[in-house]
Formats: sequence, structure tokens, C-alpha cells
Amino acid sequence: MAPTHLSLPDLDQVRRRLDAAQTPALLMLVAQATGDTSLLRPEWRPDPLALPFSGLPEEVDRAIREHALSVLESLADQGGSMPARPTREVLRGIAEWITGPLEEDEVSLLDGVLVMDDEDPDAPDWDYRELAGERPVRVAIIGAGISGLLGALRMKQAGVPFVIFERAEDLGGTWYQNTYPDCRIDVPSHIYTYSFVPSDWPSYFCRQEAILHYLQEFAKAEGLVEHIRFGTEVVSAQWDAEEAAWQMRLRDQAGERVESFTAVASAVGQLNRPAIPDIPGRETFAGPAFHSAEWDHGVDLTDRRVVVIGTGASALQFAPAVADAAAHVTVLQRTPPWLQPTPELRRDIGADERWLLSELPTYRGWYRFSIFLPKLRGNLEAATVDPDYPPTERAVSAANDALRETLTTYLTDQMVDRPDLVGAVVPAYPPASKRIVRDDGTWIRFLSRDDVDLVSDPIERIVPEGVVLRDGRLIEADVLLWGTGFKASEFLMPMSVVGEDGRDLHSQWDGDAAAYMGVAIPGFPNFFTLFGPNTSVLVHANLVYFIERQVRYFTESIRLLLETGATSLCLREEIFEEHQRELVAANAQRAWGWSSVSSWYKNAHGRSPIMWPLSTADFWRGTRVVDPAHYVLRHDHPIHHTKEQA
Ligand code: NAP
Repeated sequence: MAPTHLSLPDLDQVRRRLDAAQTPALLMLVAQATGDTSLLRPEWRPDPLALPFSGLPEEVDRAIREHALSVLESLADQGGSMPARPTREVLRGIAEWITGPLEEDEVSLLDGVLVMDDEDPDAPDWDYRELAGERPVRVAIIGAGISGLLGALRMKQAGVPFVIFERAEDLGGTWYQNTYPDCRIDVPSHIYTYSFVPSDWPSYFCRQEAILHYLQEFAKAEGLVEHIRFGTEVVSAQWDAEEAAWQMRLRDQAGERVESFTAVASAVGQLNRPAIPDIPGRETFAGPAFHSAEWDHGVDLTDRRVVVIGTGASALQFAPAVADAAAHVTVLQRTPPWLQPTPELRRDIGADERWLLSELPTYRGWYRFSIFLPKLRGNLEAATVDPDYPPTERAVSAANDALRETLTTYLTDQMVDRPDLVGAVVPAYPPASKRIVRDDGTWIRFLSRDDVDLVSDPIERIVPEGVVLRDGRLIEADVLLWGTGFKASEFLMPMSVVGEDGRDLHSQWDGDAAAYMGVAIPGFPNFFTLFGPNTSVLVHANLVYFIERQVRYFTESIRLLLETGATSLCLREEIFEEHQRELVAANAQRAWGWSSVSSWYKNAHGRSPIMWPLSTADFWRGTRVVDPAHYVLRHDHPIHHTKEQA
């Protein structure tokens, strides 16, 4: 059992590192320790956009730190300890200091977000044997990335037998696949972390190696690696109504075979199938050419003329990173990205701050919480279409236009010496119509180099010597780098999935992938998707939080299956339809659904199978419990083992 009280830390040690403490998290900690939220003074309120930093003048931060430490010292003098968690009212006080008034549901949601060291609130509190006795159950998880590994842990914690199939030779999913130069996360490291598995992150936005290492260590520590069958592709999964089981066709080095599973969780990710545009002459290029997610480290770029195609999040990381070695870089841009100012993007975390994060009790929990808090509601307003504004391809609302002004100023301020770049670099479309890419000034610095050209003319064709533009110009190249993204909306391809009555999942979706809460699909009993359709977020919430919620919902579904003795559970069509109607309508009212700008958020039908357009609280409510009334639970299949027992 988690302790209810914690000892106060050695405050001399804290004093030595005090300058490194982020004052928002420190004040939250002190409010928790004392139960007194009045010390969260209005004038000490951080800038929500700066969190976990305060955004306050340094002298104010200094005064806050001294005050916070003196409060802790007097608590220590009284021989005090501190509660391991805040009361609900203290939690509310702390959160509202940043967010303003909150709904009851939001406070409950945040109570789950605040995870202190040694806590794991979503760990199943049930056991397979207790619920199901000797009933034979086996769950297949497809993919050993961040979602699949978490799903696997939950099965392990509940004692449910499971296997993970991973096509690659190692785990990590996207963090195994993407190794391009300067590949790093663009979500703050401390919230791109399982809530209950903290890490001593070396930087605010960690590099790929650090995240891969984190996932590898997690899988090792939790004993998951031995459950993974590497180098195994799931070719197809077919529901067998007679057996109430999924028959899965597996392919590995030894060939193909079929194995049977009670339930399947597909955790195959969304951004793992490189998209290389079908530009005429593509295959005629004479030099090396590769995609960002298939980086060929054997190709030396030193003194080569490099052409980069694409200006999405990947290219904005790898293109500046290859410029020093290359003789020349030409960036071929179709649509410029909006950039989100993030000064700490490439900054390491100092030793003192890392010490505080690791050693000062509850500080890390509050630090993470402080990053999440402003994302609870985020800036959905600025991404929402106001029909009376009226919306245009410049801005979809007054708030969206205000965001445009801020982001435009961020760009133009950096180009005072290069006014020639402004026209090509400032986007024409409404911000939040597609991914806003984080930036610390690297991109404009890179584009301003003498040995870098930004070219916005359309590509006509590719020839052995390079790329020919529509105006007939030839851009000569020794190496072509595709930063052209992924086939994100083709969920679960190329795996064939056949459910009840021979329903084919891809035909059912018809290019419009959809699932209830990203997890459940009518017609596909005992089948779940993790990081499924409509679970990406842009201006609010947090991806790993959404993954944890989906895994929780999946785990609770398995519990329902076992608890009720049902052999299958299948989402009711009407529940799905209503949910889907709501998502489609809401997505159409967000900048990403409304604007005609191209992005991986939309599919060929112009709809978004990618984005969650509702609030974080809506997702929390939808994934809190698995409502049996939402499902058809069947008991009419044989459970062979049960029969044998009888
Ligand atoms: P992306 O955002 O889809 O960008 C693809 C780029 O290629 C766009 O600039 C696109 O132009 C261009 N493009 C596509 N087809 C083209 C064509 N036929 N001709 C010319 N240009 C073409 O892909 P990405 O940069 O790989 O990023 C995908 C997602 O992965 C990101 O949004 C992010 O969610 C994730 N990601 C995360 C990180 C991180 O966490 N650090 C890093 C990288 C990626 P248009 O804009 O005109 O379509």
C-alpha cells in the first residue's frame, strides 16, 4: 500500500539546488505539504504557456523559492511530515490557480493525472484467475511500441496470458524506426512518459535514443520482453464465431501459421508506413534516396548536394542537422508549417534540476502535472470555427486570428535580415489546420544560411541528376531525402481483419477509419485498437494520456468479458454511430477539418480519422468505465475448458 505520509526531504540539500527549482511545481508541492493554497498568490501565478517554467521575472522566482523553502523549513521544525497526496480541495485549489474554475469531472480527471512516485492508479485491481477460474484465455497484442507495451503490462498485472507480436526485430515502435539526425520528441519529455513510470530525462524534449532506451528498460523491468515474438507479422485476423476466437495468421522467418486468441489489441501505431509521393521519374534518381523513417546511416552526406522534400515535423528536425556536413541543402516546400516557439526544445536539463526531479518527494509529480494542466482545455477555442466571424483560409475565428498574429510575429521577428524569406515562410492557412511544429529558432537560422535554399515552386518530375520544377529549373542533387510523412489515415493496413459475418474491416471503414473512443468497433467482437482512430490531439490534452485512457478501456473490456463469463463482447452499432456522428460534426468545426490545406489529419474523403475534436474531459468520461449496455455480450459459444471442467 502506498504511504499516506512522506518524510520531508533534507532541506539543506534542497537549498543547494534551489535556483534550479521551477517555482510553479515548487509552490504546488508546498501547498500540498501544508494544505494551504493561499500561498499560491495571484502575483505568483505562472504564465500557463510557459509551464513548467513560471515565465515570471527572475527576481520574483527568487522570492518564491525563498518563501517556499522557509515554509518547508518551519514545517520541518515542527517535526512535520507531508501528506503523500493532496486532498481533493487542495488539488482543486492548485489546479484552479492555473486554469480558473473547474468542473467536478475535471477535478476527478486531474486527480488521475497527478501520479506520484510508486503510484499506479490504473493498475488492474482484479485477477484473471479470480474472475475466470480455469477458463483458457489468451490475448494477442500487435505491436511493441508505447501503446502495445502498456497494454501488455496491464494484461500481465491482471494475470491474463498474452503474447505480443512485433514485426520489427526490436521493440519501441516509432522510436525504433525513426533514427534520423536530431530525431527527438516534440511533446515535453515529462508528459511523454507513462504517468506511473517516471524517468530521469536528460532534456526537456528528449532525443530518440533516450525514449527508445526508456521503453526498452520499461519492457525489461516489467518482464514483457519474454512475451514478445519479434520478427513476426500478423498477416490477418479472422473472427471464428464457432470457437469465439480470433484466428491469426502469423508470418515469420519459419513461414506462416495460424494461432487462436480470445481477444486482440491492435497497437500498430499511425505514423509507421512511410508515404513517398508518386512523383514521375522517382525511381530514376541516380544517387541515394531515402525516407526520414528509413534513414540510411551508411550514406555519408559530407560535401554532398542534398535535396529535402517536405517541411513537416520530421524535416524540420533532420534538415538543419545535415546542413553542416552537406555542401548545400535545398528544401522543396509545398506548404510552410506554423511554428510554436519553444526555447527549451534542444536544451538539456541541468544536474541540479534533475536532482530535484529525482529526489525531492512529489516534486516530479507536480512538475508533470504543471505541464499537463494548461493542456486540460488547451487552446481549442483558437482552433474552433466561428461561422459568424466569418471563417476564411486565413483565420477561422477571432481567436484563431489572434493566434495567427502571435505566430506570425514569431516568424517575422526572426527574418528582419532576410525579408526575402517572409513570403515563403509565413503560412497562408489558419493556424491549427495542421500540425504546428515546435521550434527554438533553428528553422529560420537554417533557412538563412548561405548554403541553404528554400524553394516553393512545385515539383514536376525527378530525373537522374535531381529534381525538375514546374518552371523547368533543375535542382541538382547527390542525395534525395524524403520528409514526406506517413500513410497515417490507412489504419491497420496492410493487415486483413475479418469480423462477424465475414465483415472486412477495411471495407467497412472504406477509407474512413473509426472506433468508439478509438478502441472498439461494431462487428469486431473482442477486438480493440490502441492509439486508434480519432485519438490524436493538437491544441489540447496529451497523446500519452490518451493512450493510457485507451489501454484502461481495453483492460476494463477484458475484465467485463471475464467477469460476465461472456465469450464475446461487441460494441452496439447505435453507440458507435452516435459517437461517430458527434466526432465528424465536431471535427468539421475545427480548423483542421474546415480548412482545405493538405495534412495527414485528413483522409481522402476530407474527414479526419485522426483527431479528437472534443474536450479532454469528454475522453476521460468515455473511457472511465466500459458500460455493459454499450455491448452485446454473447454466452452462446462454447468455452471448451469450462465444458471439460464440468
Ligand atoms: P508530415 O507532417 O506529413 O509532412 C510531410 C511533408 O511532406 C509536408 O511538408 C508535405 O507538404 C510534404 N509533401 C508530401 N507530399 C508531397 C509532395 N508530393 N510534394 C511535395 N511535398 C510533399 O510528415 P512528418 O514531418 O514526417 O511528420 C508526421 C508527424 O509525425 C508529425 O506531424 C508528428 O505528429 C510526428 N512527428 C513527431 C516528431 C516528434 O515528436 N519529434 C517528429 C517527427 C514527426 P504539405 O504540407 O503540402 O502536405
